Amino acid sequence: MDTLAIDGGTPVRTKPFPQWPIYGELEERGLLEVLHSGKWGGTGRVKLQELEERFAAYHGAAYGITVANGTIGITAALMAAGVGPGDEVIMPPYTFIATATSALLFGAVPVFADVEPDTLLLDPEKVEPLITSKTKAIITVHIAGAPSDMTRLKEIAARRGLRLIEDSAQAVGARWEGQGVGAIGDLGTFSFQSSKNLNAGEGGMILTNDRELADRVWSFSNVGRVREGGWYQHERIGWNLRMTEFQAAVLLGQMTRLDEQMEKRERNGKLLTKLLGEIEGIRTLRRDPRITRHAYHLYMFKLAPEVADAVAKSEVIRRIQAEGIPVSAGYVSLNRNEAVLREIESLTGERRVNDCPVSERACEKETLWLHQNVLLGDEEDMHDIARAVQKVLAACGSKDSVRP
Ligand SMILES: *Cc1c(COP(=O)(O)O)cnc(C)c1O
Repeated sequence: MDTLAIDGGTPVRTKPFPQWPIYGELEERGLLEVLHSGKWGGTGRVKLQELEERFAAYHGAAYGITVANGTIGITAALMAAGVGPGDEVIMPPYTFIATATSALLFGAVPVFADVEPDTLLLDPEKVEPLITSKTKAIITVHIAGAPSDMTRLKEIAARRGLRLIEDSAQAVGARWEGQGVGAIGDLGTFSFQSSKNLNAGEGGMILTNDRELADRVWSFSNVGRVREGGWYQHERIGWNLRMTEFQAAVLLGQMTRLDEQMEKRERNGKLLTKLLGEIEGIRTLRRDPRITRHAYHLYMFKLAPEVADAVAKSEVIRRIQAEGIPVSAGYVSLNRNEAVLREIESLTGERRVNDCPVSERACEKETLWLHQNVLLGDEEDMHDIARAVQKVLAACGSKDSVRP
């Protein structure tokens, strides 16, 4: 057997993967146009208007409202949906901390419902038992770019009189049964932060098909003004949550490459699932056949239970990284994040812990990540990844594995 790179052997790969961001003349030209126009902010609304229309149309939504970032986008969506301080919001714990902090920002209380073991997406069956008289909304997260079960979640939300918000920060362009994410539920939020599949450095977008919700989000984001109203006509408490014309210019450039990049990520994602699926000790995630387009912001895969119990995940990661493959460990389950728990305690007066064994185990022991830029490589790059994983797993299975 080949010696592992970490033990002095030759790494499977030394070539770098595609760099991120990717940009060109369109972004350059757009930025200069904004610069020379003198309309730099969020009220000039030339590029912003065009972006909102194009982005909403791309997802089949009636309305798009740009905001400063994805986090504040979720906050504005929750508030527009009528969620207030003290209300409970059910969400998965396997997500970026912003899903929870967006609610905590105004005193709403996250309640964590576990994820499905084979998709790591919010498990609809875990949602209903957590609904109380205080529950106002469900936030589902299309984690890694895979749409969650919108059919089932919509049914639950409708039957229990709850609002359904899609945290689509990782899922630009993804589709569930042919429908673009973001406007399948009541409201959907997106992020244009540097790592995301559409990148403006920072930025965000909210989509909805509901005119009233769109107007409310717009008003919250524009210091309580009303569309068509006067400059100093503030009809509710709102804030300046606007994005700038510069960001919109960059995003209009980025959007022209989106289809091509999405197709490439899909192709490579499917190939990786085939290659990694053949490796003993690896479990690939299940892709629901109703996902008609996966955004692959991340490629996630798991160590098989027996491997995860025998070898420390951090050690597997170190060894695969040494072979030249940039795998990473991903999240700490939010239901175990001490800062989140402290804040919930200060809001409710109780030490509330929602056990989410599937998410906790996925975070601590099983799940590995590759970032979206890796999926912009070619077919041979995917074979390198599989070769490195195979090499490390074979060594883990054989001899002096490091115990967890
Ligand atoms: C990135 C991200 C956010 C927050 O977006 P920002 O633009 O960084 O504020 C929220 N939820 C998820 C799942 C994310 O990945």
